[in-house]
Amino acid sequence: MPNELRPLNLFADPLPRPSPKDGEKVPHADLEQLRDYHRQRLSEQESERLRSHLAQCSDCADRLAKLEDFFGQMPPDASPEEIIERWQHFQATLSPSLPRPTPPAAESDVEEEAPRWRRAPKGFVSRRTLIKVATSLTLLVIISTGFALYDWWQARLARQDLDAAEERVSRLWNDLQSLEREHQMLKASHAEQLAALNERVKRLTGPHLNWPVFEIYPREVLSRLGSSMNEVTLASSVDGFSLILNVENQTRYPEYRLEIVDAENTIIWQGSGLQRNALNAFTLALTRDLLPGDHYTLKIYGKRGSRLVLLEVYPLRIRQRPATAPSPSTRH
Ligand SMILES: [Zn+2]
Repeated sequence: MPNELRPLNLFADPLPRPSPKDGEKVPHADLEQLRDYHRQRLSEQESERLRSHLAQCSDCADRLAKLEDFFGQMPPDASPEEIIERWQHFQATLSPSLPRPTPPAAESDVEEEAPRWRRAPKGFVSRRTLIKVATSLTLLVIISTGFALYDWWQARLARQDLDAAEERVSRLWNDLQSLEREHQMLKASHAEQLAALNERVKRLTGPHLNWPVFEIYPREVLSRLGSSMNEVTLASSVDGFSLILNVENQTRYPEYRLEIVDAENTIIWQGSGLQRNALNAFTLALTRDLLPGDHYTLKIYGKRGSRLVLLEVYPLRIRQRPATAPSPSTRH
């Protein structure tokens, strides 16, 4: 069998890379072969041989698994130096368990297997020289391996970047689509709101037929009359009403301030500008939109400088008359 010659071939080559081409029996794969296999850089034939070897050799399968671990654990931002350093360290940790396809700078490896007549004559090449050559060649391989590894790593990172960019673009596209849909919906709802507002403006600017007007009294006057509330009753069709606020307190102030609070005592409107009319009362028109509830309190303050004095308090109850009467027809 020609295979018998292999140990001698190995011996002749100071850095043997087990070449599967010249023999049926596949030797152990070295780290580079495993790496190339992992990177799918081997020819079809080579990777087929290696695959069948891996199926039988747990040593090589184990080293392949470690190699894949090594690549898997490489941080994506590793620098070339770091990759090379990690690779060297990885090689170093792996080599003790390496089933030594490497030829003997130390003869003892071969001694037992090779027939005596095939051994190189002692002193043919000094062991020291062999070691030196082997060491520098190994170093060279390590360095070139490091650079090849770095190239491969960079390509892999670039591919990852590209994938990430594509994903980002598709995400942006989706965002854009949903923004567009949102925009269309907003446009539609704005058109609706605008139409409703136009309708309302038209209604408010027209004449208000049968506009209700009520006279109300301060709390003290009401209690003298045996009542606690000013009551107004509104038809369901009216948009608002006017109030005449009779005043008991005759103290004059340069400015008056109105405050409207609801049943929970929350201020729903406040402002100044009120003036007493010729009959010494205040007047004001209110909309149902501002006062949709049924209990409110109106407070009038007199203001002098920074001093604010509570003048009158008007409790108010609004009743809604059930819609029986036909609503006044409106025509603009
Ligand atoms: Zn093997």
